[in-house]
Amino acid sequence: MTLQEASDGGPTRILVVDDVPDNVEILDARLSSRGYAVVTASNGEEALERVKDEPPHLILLDVMMPGLDGHQVARRIKDDERLPFIPIILVTALNEAEDVVQGLESGADDYISKPYNFRELEARVRAMLRIKFLQDELDLKNRELELANKRLKKLSITDGLTELFNHRHVQGLLHDEFERSLRTGEPVAVAMMDLDRFKNINDTYGHPTGDVILYETARIIKETAREIDMPGRYGGEEFIAILPGTEEEAAAAFAERVRHAVESHVYRDGATEVRMTVSCGVASFPGDGIDSPESLLKAADEALYQAKHGGRNQVIRASQASPATE
Ligand code: GH3
Ligand code: MG
Ligand code: MG
Repeated sequence: MTLQEASDGGPTRILVVDDVPDNVEILDARLSSRGYAVVTASNGEEALERVKDEPPHLILLDVMMPGLDGHQVARRIKDDERLPFIPIILVTALNEAEDVVQGLESGADDYISKPYNFRELEARVRAMLRIKFLQDELDLKNRELELANKRLKKLSITDGLTELFNHRHVQGLLHDEFERSLRTGEPVAVAMMDLDRFKNINDTYGHPTGDVILYETARIIKETAREIDMPGRYGGEEFIAILPGTEEEAAAAFAERVRHAVESHVYRDGATEVRMTVSCGVASFPGDGIDSPESLLKAADEALYQAKHGGRNQVIRASQASPATE
């Protein structure tokens, strides 16, 4: 990559801004002959328009212009957070220290005084472009890093097999939702769902078929859940869904839809076709004897236990479950 060539392979665009047409013309001709793509503007407003159309890689900006002057234009461009880093070189007839200070304070990156030596101007342009392209590379690397971090974060909260939330994340979510429920007075429910006689599947068809069934069951639960619900894999073949703003009755209706969908689904792994059933226990807060995320989980778990012992393929509500015998 040369400095006349931007990172996207296109020519390096330089915006030349000056209210005196001759000044623009000279710079345009000289920079164009060096291989730069030159865009021009004859006042501050027009310069901002050009920048908005397509941000240039560098701006040569006259200071004294009617309307918006160079300092104001520089300030506006540097204040716009949507823009990438665009080096601004002020071209100024003023040569007082105060003007230079003001120009650089307004956000410009360098300045050159008129009348200038073109070779010097060109050298300053090249120096600034080197910084610009390094900055662009840094921005790109930062974006890549951010993306990688996001992926990593997602991975750390996801169960690899089912792509649902993993056990640890579900625990955290449950605590958050319980806190929220305490704060807002909105109910929160938990549904525990455990595939029936799943061990037989592994024994009969092998572990890989078991995995397919777990994956498809996760899809069923996810499709049955609302956008705000939080389904997770709680253990081997045990699933959980945290249902915000949901009372026990509605949670039971959700679990019943899952139960029915599982029962109706034909699981396929190659030529193997398997039918499954699932047992569910649901509980909600506020509810009898429930005063913590742990007791909410426990109530749902005990209801699930009763669903298993009551013959499986059924939904039991904590409030209707007989007291646990311990
Ligand atoms: P129940 O109706 O009482 O729930 O009986 P079950 O056989 O489903 O329950 P149990 O807890 O006895 O067995 C669960 C089985 O799930 C045992 C284990 O081999 C299997 N399992 C756990 N995790 C995985 C997994 O990731 N993949 C597969 N294929 N099987 C798993
Ligand atoms: Mg089971
Ligand atoms: Mg189990």
